[in-house]
Amino acid sequence: MTETKPKTFRRPGIIRPPSEWRSYFLPLTAGCSNNTCTFCGYYGSKLEMRDPEEARNEIDAVALFLRRGIRLSAVPDVVYAVAQGWDGKRVFLQDGDALVYPFPRLVDVLVYLNEKLPHVERVGAYATPQDILRRSVAELQELRRLKLGILYTGLETGDDERLEKVGKGVSSDQLIEAGRKVKDAGIPFSVTVILGLGGVERSKEHVAGTARVLTAIDPDYAGALTLTLVPGTPLYDEWQRGEFSPLSPLQSLQELKAMMENSDFTDCFFSSMHASNYLSVRGRLPQDRAKMLSQVERVLASGDPSLLRPEHLRGL
Ligand code: SF4
Repeated sequence: MTETKPKTFRRPGIIRPPSEWRSYFLPLTAGCSNNTCTFCGYYGSKLEMRDPEEARNEIDAVALFLRRGIRLSAVPDVVYAVAQGWDGKRVFLQDGDALVYPFPRLVDVLVYLNEKLPHVERVGAYATPQDILRRSVAELQELRRLKLGILYTGLETGDDERLEKVGKGVSSDQLIEAGRKVKDAGIPFSVTVILGLGGVERSKEHVAGTARVLTAIDPDYAGALTLTLVPGTPLYDEWQRGEFSPLSPLQSLQELKAMMENSDFTDCFFSSMHASNYLSVRGRLPQDRAKMLSQVERVLASGDPSLLRPEHLRGL
């Protein structure tokens, strides 16, 4: 009988929300469980789960390094490269949706993390709406007790037709249900939406649906990204075949303005600071709405492209 070698976990590259730049990046998964979004670089990626023992070993290595400066030869250099400048306060669980990690294993890793690195103040992770819907509020509360202090979810759009077409795998009502669950569990919630995802054809529906979902969820943080067509993704191919008409930069600013006007928040930090956007605005909604809108309106009224981030400086 031939012995099958255990598969080694492939450590993913670091993709993280901008606000996690100071975090230690601890991979639990690689890829994304919902790999069907036609605009996303994770499209077609294969989900891999890390053995919890391997994650615990990494936590041990980091704890030893922080306490005594000792580096173990068996531990990959990247662990020490990340741990070196780390302030010990925040941990970001990789990858595309670490909340898909089976619940008992996630609890096990978080308990261990709290024990070995007690000074960690907040753990964050990406989560798909499906991952959230799979968990009960009580389970999410348990994760919060173990310092899961923020979840990041891509809503992308609230337009049901577009959600289906881009392979998001959930309806706008399910996005709302997932968002409310996170809020009911008391976990700060950060969401992103994608300007231009409806193209020219569905811009109106995209704005109206997204504002409805944002209002119903009332997240703590909302970020607007601007659609970037990534070669190798189905949406890029649709565009190449003339089946998708992207917005112009100024049309995407119109969407940004309309979303800020039509979303009702209690107190949300709203930003378009992400590198994919043509214009960066940030502030609290509703408090700063007038100021933020006037920044966008000024650029729209001028129609001056030099006031926008140049195409070559836009990033994913
Ligand atoms: S769920 Fe998020 S990370 Fe996964 S493929 Fe869709 S957009 Fe990409």
